[in-house]
Amino acid sequence: MNFRTHKHTRCRICGSSGLKKILDLGRMPPANAFVTKQNLSKKELTYPLDVYVCRRCNLVQLGIVVSPKILFSDYVYFSSTSKVFMQHFEELADTSIRRISLQKNSFVIDIGSNDGILLKPFIKKRFRVLGIEPARNIAQIANEAHVETIPSFFSVPLARRIKKSHGQADLITATNVFAHIDDIDEVIEGVKCILKENGVFIIEAPYLIDLLDNNLFDTIYHEHLSYFSVIPLTIFFRKHGMKIFSVEHTATHGGSLRIYAVRIGPPRKIDASVARYLRLEQNRITSLHTYKQFAEKIDRDKEKLVALLKQLRKQGKTIAGYGAPAKSNTLLNYYSISADLLSYIADDSRYKQNLYTPGMHIPVVSPMHLTERQPDYLVLLAWNFAESIMKKWNDLHEGGMKFILPKPEVNII
Ligand SMILES: [Zn+2]
Repeated sequence: MNFRTHKHTRCRICGSSGLKKILDLGRMPPANAFVTKQNLSKKELTYPLDVYVCRRCNLVQLGIVVSPKILFSDYVYFSSTSKVFMQHFEELADTSIRRISLQKNSFVIDIGSNDGILLKPFIKKRFRVLGIEPARNIAQIANEAHVETIPSFFSVPLARRIKKSHGQADLITATNVFAHIDDIDEVIEGVKCILKENGVFIIEAPYLIDLLDNNLFDTIYHEHLSYFSVIPLTIFFRKHGMKIFSVEHTATHGGSLRIYAVRIGPPRKIDASVARYLRLEQNRITSLHTYKQFAEKIDRDKEKLVALLKQLRKQGKTIAGYGAPAKSNTLLNYYSISADLLSYIADDSRYKQNLYTPGMHIPVVSPMHLTERQPDYLVLLAWNFAESIMKKWNDLHEGGMKFILPKPEVNII
């Protein structure tokens, strides 16, 4: 991984060089590279953000891979800061235990385990767990909370060491991490090394169909290398001697796939959900027309939101943002929305407060500012939490502050 960026010329799943560009968002700094006040005058590193579809297996993927060392070394995203995610992972633990009939003392490994958010519910139910998390600062927090976590990128050599030290797992999970990894062949080979013969591998990844349907282009950033759907994933698992036996849909990140996979061999019935998703995607993700419409919609939405904000500012209204997730930086940078339009962004995570957004340099502050400097309008950049944010700030709303929802359509409430 001793590179800064490399041009991605062959499909991550099928190796085809038939990659067709479907979207160009220009150059951008990494979406989580928040800037300190001292560094505001320094030049930020930016990288192209363009998207391709493989004409053979239909995997949608970025054209440039930025080194994970640049993207993840000092990560500011902590899962457990979000209550919605905590509930989601409790549900995932419950559902997987039930569906796979996991027995007490089963061994669960989570790849990209963050601060242990998914493993904690398994610990409560007395399972043996192990986390693997590349961001050292976050792995340390997990270990301090008694979730055993190896601070490392996942690889085949690491899997071999784990097999020796901990044995093989009944369940391996990789939630919202598969899309981040360039060499997914290495991951799956590592998974097979530490997965019992009849063990189950679950991945969760944002779903391409939701991205297209709801115009969630802001979920495109350098960390997300692939935009998955069931058609290419079926090809991917088959290539590695595995098969998908069930597909579920979850609401996280604007809509995600939960894929259950096992080795081909031990009997495991494939349920009807797999064929249903394959049918849903056929003629849709395989058509270039779909992506052309998607790109056009992004630019129409850009015009609409920017015109609205400019008009409000002209009328002397004050506007702030709520939520500075990574995706907000794709939107702000592509729309060129700077502090002239959004005076500040309130975010619940204290790790982002007092920093500035990458590229546009909008100050990120504590939500306390909303009561002290109440804006006339609040743009919900963390649109996936819109409902809970609006509920939380209903008092200000009743006092006259309006919400602007950027997704799926620009909407004032
Ligand atoms: Zn391909």
